Amino acid sequence: MEPIKMVDLHKQYLKIKDDVDSAIEEVLNETAFIQGRQVKEFEAALATYTGARYVISCGNGTDALQIALMALDPKPGDEVILPVFTYVATAEVIALLRLTPVFVDVDPRTFNIDVEQAAANITERTRAIVPVHLFGQCADMEPLMGIARQHGIAIIEDAAQALGAQYRFADGTLRHAGVIGQIGCTSFFPSKNLACFGDGGAMFTNDDALAEKLRMTANHGQRVKYIHDLVGVNSRLDTLQAAILKVKLAHLDEYASARQRAAAHYDESLNGIDGLVLPLRAKNSTHVFNQYTVQIANGRRDALKAFLQEKGVPSMVYYPLPLHFQKAYKNPQYGAGAFPVAEKLSESVLSLPVHTEMTTDQLDYICDVVRSFFRSQ
Ligand SMILES: *Cc1c(COP(=O)(O)O)cnc(C)c1O
Repeated sequence: MEPIKMVDLHKQYLKIKDDVDSAIEEVLNETAFIQGRQVKEFEAALATYTGARYVISCGNGTDALQIALMALDPKPGDEVILPVFTYVATAEVIALLRLTPVFVDVDPRTFNIDVEQAAANITERTRAIVPVHLFGQCADMEPLMGIARQHGIAIIEDAAQALGAQYRFADGTLRHAGVIGQIGCTSFFPSKNLACFGDGGAMFTNDDALAEKLRMTANHGQRVKYIHDLVGVNSRLDTLQAAILKVKLAHLDEYASARQRAAAHYDESLNGIDGLVLPLRAKNSTHVFNQYTVQIANGRRDALKAFLQEKGVPSMVYYPLPLHFQKAYKNPQYGAGAFPVAEKLSESVLSLPVHTEMTTDQLDYICDVVRSFFRSQ
């Protein structure tokens, strides 16, 4: 059995090597390294895939979130509601723009934003809500969209971990993660489901005016070269990454299926272990398993992590500190106990290896190790 990794980018690359290599070679021969034709081609392909009217690529997922917020023209001190249990980028861009992050707790089973708490935290200064589709499954968008509409607030989705997931509305309508709110953001960081060979990101919108603003903001606020109508940033997906992503996009559903197969294997083999909570699949969203995240009761998480490591099984804690415990985001308003679910999750979650190249042997081995840990308790 090959050594187990959290992600296996090399093995994934080898399977599509010829296509990727020739896409790269084309870029090298054409030498349009910035805004080459492959950037437009990839944006168009991703728009077709997700059903978004507009896809605007940018430098990374963090920039996507920042540019999305900038497009709302917020005033310093405006509030943005976000889950307290997420990757730091979601809060970082809010703080960078001198906006006020308003944290809310998450659902203990889906890890996603608690919709009732989001609603309860809306004030006249609230500018937007940023739900994060954590670990690959959509937040509960239908009630959230209803609340936002009622208050005239924008929804900016953080779909960095959930590209390819689909949310089902009560009337049966299916929408891709990132194409539900006013603006959706995603990342092509190497560990994401659609991953490039460096940094990359994109924004989605169906709104003509927002699309233009996002595109201008990402490119120095210019529509015409050297004519700057907005204060913008320099955030572009480079042509090499776009060419690679265009090849990989054709495999995204296959990649999601491989992750789902690994998750199903875990579900089946780890089911019924006392003290181990498996990830819940929400009824109204597919799950593309950017992470397979279990919860370990009784303060045994770190012991399981160490045991796995001893047996050659990597695992990760996403995330060891909720945002209100991070020094950079401390606020006297949010003391210990302010977000009990997130606080408990940060002590009990563990993400097991899940990627496109996992073999049945590897999955069986990991499950055996986990089972033997709980047997010995
Ligand atoms: C990865 C990630 C981001 C940031 O994406 P980068 O491309 O690394 O900047 C933002 N939010 C979430 C939830 C992420 O997982």
